Amino acid sequence: MSKKHTFQTEINQLLDLMIHSLYSNKEIFLRELISNASDALDKLNYLTLTDERLKDMKFEPYIELSFDEKKKTLIIEDNGIGMNEEELISNLGTIAKSGTKSFLSSLSGDKKKDSALIGQFGVGFYSVFMVSDKVIVQSKKAGEDKAYAWMSDGKGEYEISVCKRETQGTQITIYLKDEDSSFASRWEIENIVKKYSEHIPFPIYLNYTDTKFEGEGDNKKEIKEEKKEQINTAKAIWKMNKNELKDEDYKEFYKSFAHDNTEPMKWIHTKTEGTLEYSTLFFIPQVAPFDLYRVDYKSGVKLYVKRVFITDDDKELLPQYLRFIRGVIDSEDLPLNVSREILQQNKILVNIRAASVKKILGEIENIAKDKEAYEKFYVQFGKVLKEGLYSDYENKEKILNLLRFATSKGEQNISLKEYKEKMPKDQKSIYYMIGQNLELLKAAPVLEKYHQKGYEVLLMADEVDGFVIPSVNEYDKIPLKEASASETLKELGEEMIAPEIQKSFENLIAVFKEALGDEVKDIILSVSLTSPVALVGDEQNAMMANLMRQMGQEPPAQKKTMELSSNHPILQKLKDTQDKELLIDTAYLLYASAKLLESGSVENAKEFSNLLNKTILKTL
Ligand code: ADP
Ligand code: MG
Repeated sequence: MSKKHTFQTEINQLLDLMIHSLYSNKEIFLRELISNASDALDKLNYLTLTDERLKDMKFEPYIELSFDEKKKTLIIEDNGIGMNEEELISNLGTIAKSGTKSFLSSLSGDKKKDSALIGQFGVGFYSVFMVSDKVIVQSKKAGEDKAYAWMSDGKGEYEISVCKRETQGTQITIYLKDEDSSFASRWEIENIVKKYSEHIPFPIYLNYTDTKFEGEGDNKKEIKEEKKEQINTAKAIWKMNKNELKDEDYKEFYKSFAHDNTEPMKWIHTKTEGTLEYSTLFFIPQVAPFDLYRVDYKSGVKLYVKRVFITDDDKELLPQYLRFIRGVIDSEDLPLNVSREILQQNKILVNIRAASVKKILGEIENIAKDKEAYEKFYVQFGKVLKEGLYSDYENKEKILNLLRFATSKGEQNISLKEYKEKMPKDQKSIYYMIGQNLELLKAAPVLEKYHQKGYEVLLMADEVDGFVIPSVNEYDKIPLKEASASETLKELGEEMIAPEIQKSFENLIAVFKEALGDEVKDIILSVSLTSPVALVGDEQNAMMANLMRQMGQEPPAQKKTMELSSNHPILQKLKDTQDKELLIDTAYLLYASAKLLESGSVENAKEFSNLLNKTILKTL
């Protein structure tokens, strides 16, 4: 008796993408199936050491590959944890991870772009349908009696029936497509395993038939011999000594570990002995993982205890701002039955984590010595690194040193250290402005005041800047200040406006206030602007807004003070006019154009344009 099931819509979508986008790199299907087998062995390995019911079980983990050139079949077997009927349905028929779903819906449909993306994202079990017409998965869950077979041609449906299987674990039979039958060959399989699965920490055996000839001439006989050979070293690379390993070993391990076809940018291999004994192997990828900015991103670090896999689902193994790191932590001191729930509080792990963060930041500092290499790193991971400014107090100074900024003087990638070295003697603070994009920031009228003094302003337009930068009070004992805040502007030593000038603008300011009403907090005169107006916020409000954002609320729009430049020709001419209508219209226009510079848009575009037309007409 077999039961028919249909694949979830997303699976069909995934299968479709896989077949049409990844076809140039079909061989990775074997990497994915071996990685699943290895995960299944990891899980059972852990249970035989921690679960009372499985403790007496004899368990010698293996992965075994067989093939038949004539039948064009390939078989991958493991004696791992296995799957029961429900698990076959939920693991091989649905996509449980919400991240995967939203990943799929975010794909553009552009095959080239998508195939790069989909390569980064672990393609998993379904990649087997790139090379096969039919797949049968037979599985028996450890500790259970029944075995089940799952069968599908990857076209919308699969069937499940009861089957026979002696040992626990999973056997996958692949019926290769005609054009992919070359995978059913000893050399092909050995090559792929060497390339991607050399350091899977379990033995991978290959069964093959060895054909020999004996005798001479008419007596020549063909002798066939069934052979079984281990084709990987099965060593946990992170436990090996550095001098035993070549760059290639690290690169290849990374590719299979991170399911990434691009080489890692850097790796950091550490073996520590002494009070604590542990090994870590971390990789910095070249390209950010696709889920880097998703709330449900997948952790890239696996925890092992004495080579036994414990978890790959603990986001606290490294701080969140290092979530792009891939790698392994293997401790000799943690107990095997350490509860996954309380891992975070474990003292040993806290120590390993702190040391690991130092190591990783140190390696990033090394990359930063090479400007070009660091730019590549920074484009991918700079924003994430910034998050560390408010979560990792201890390493704040280190992280600050790793940041790079654009500035009002046209720098693209300047560090705070370089900024500081360039500061004029009389400059007391480090100035920054945060906005929607760099173009708008560069056009901000407030910057003129800084230009006049020869001061440089850091320009920031990453979304995360608004959250983190205001929490940085100082760098190397120099305070950081928001350049457009009125408190900061005072510090620049604004010149006083002469009383008679103030008086000559009285009427204009009164009409402007009447016209703009609640839109602005105040309207004041200023001398050192070359633009007619600037909008200036205050620090108190900026801090409030940040607090609100940190609590997940969108702060209300903040009213700003409008500064009028007393020596700008527009205002010079306008101040003596008796035409009240013209004054009111100009008030709106100046305000709207200041807003435009700030945010790139005006609220009532129609009104704005009508008003502009009306004013132009008047002048003609
Ligand atoms: P992932 O490995 O990222 O979870 P896959 O598509 O590769 O995604 O596999 C889906 C799931 O199917 C796995 O999480 C696992 O639960 C199950 N699975 C796949 N292969 C095996 C296997 N050989 N033994 C046990 N479970 C397996
Ligand atoms: Mg997998």
